[in-house]
Amino acid sequence: MLVQPNIELKKINIVKKNITDSISRWIRPEIRALKAYHVPPATNCVKLDAMENPYQWPESMVDEWLELVKDVELNRYPDPSARVLKESLRQTMSVPDNAEILLGNGSDELIQMILMAVADKEQTVLSVAPSFVMYDMVTTYAGMKYVSVPLNNDFSLDVDTFLKAIADHTPAIIFIAYPNNPTGNLFDRNDLQKIIDTAPGLVVIDEAYHAFADDSFMNEAGSVDNLLVMRTVSKMGLAGLRLGLLAGKPEWLAEFDKVRLPYNLNVLTQATALFALSHQSVLDAQTETICKTRTHLIAELTKIESLIVYPSDANFILFRTEKDQANKIFEKLKEAGILIKNLSPMGGALTDCLRVTVGMPDENDAFINALVKSL
Ligand code: PMP
Repeated sequence: MLVQPNIELKKINIVKKNITDSISRWIRPEIRALKAYHVPPATNCVKLDAMENPYQWPESMVDEWLELVKDVELNRYPDPSARVLKESLRQTMSVPDNAEILLGNGSDELIQMILMAVADKEQTVLSVAPSFVMYDMVTTYAGMKYVSVPLNNDFSLDVDTFLKAIADHTPAIIFIAYPNNPTGNLFDRNDLQKIIDTAPGLVVIDEAYHAFADDSFMNEAGSVDNLLVMRTVSKMGLAGLRLGLLAGKPEWLAEFDKVRLPYNLNVLTQATALFALSHQSVLDAQTETICKTRTHLIAELTKIESLIVYPSDANFILFRTEKDQANKIFEKLKEAGILIKNLSPMGGALTDCLRVTVGMPDENDAFINALVKSL
């Protein structure tokens, strides 16, 4: 709408309100009701709260990278479509030839792009509970309805209830984290296939933790009309770069590309990710070490009789403490300089649950020692 000049100049009467009233007037109630995503400070802590890969690169690789970064042209905008990086990721992540790729500033941004393209208050986003909190949060940002189907007691998927929820709510988008965060498990592949076959809209299989798991839907991306597969480099040791990937039918991705901000991947991310992917064997070796260490950490946790330890296909482990002990244990670990994630305040199935990221062997030992003392 173009404002027409007002020929009869009227006196404009603007009454300035105080800031609280102004916020109530202009900020949507559902945003006012939210709490911003909180990341606790972790200075001088053993950081086992955020599913990061704890390993650094070998010194020679760091030197080679610094040489490369010297030549990055910070005065220029980045390649808006990151063509070279996309091709490298296509190889590394085995994206099928018939699938298109869309890159995001972390997979968080891809979730945002998908929902922004749909953003309609009549439309529903469906997932399971508990799952990755950003599905729910970004749905709220987009002004849409969020519905979640509780997982079974062992955190497996209740497929019959999920299929009923699809029939009841006709979701525009379904998000399934595979493996799931914060539970760490893969769901039954046949159940996910049923969901994909039944869904009227898109199904996003979020494979953020793929590096630590043995299964994937990537082969189907590009062949199945309503399937998108999402990955990230964050769990492969590159969380600081902020780079996520979405693979699927070109027709869908062309729509999401319209809501992508033009230069969403900065020059340093593009150059560094390309460099890191050309040293894939270093990242793979780190992932392999994390998987081996995970087995050891699960064994150590399982020795503690008062805990229930859940199986993990990811780089973190969920465990349940005795009733009402999670907050106390979390605080005692923090006092001992070890930061994990307290999920108990989220309630529901996560009451009394804590989540620990698999760290380096000495970090895991420090965690187990402090945990035993905190019980
Ligand atoms: N999906 C899942 C299931 C996650 O747990 C996370 C981060 N913890 C993400 C997506 C976002 O990853 P990033 O934005 O770092 O790519």
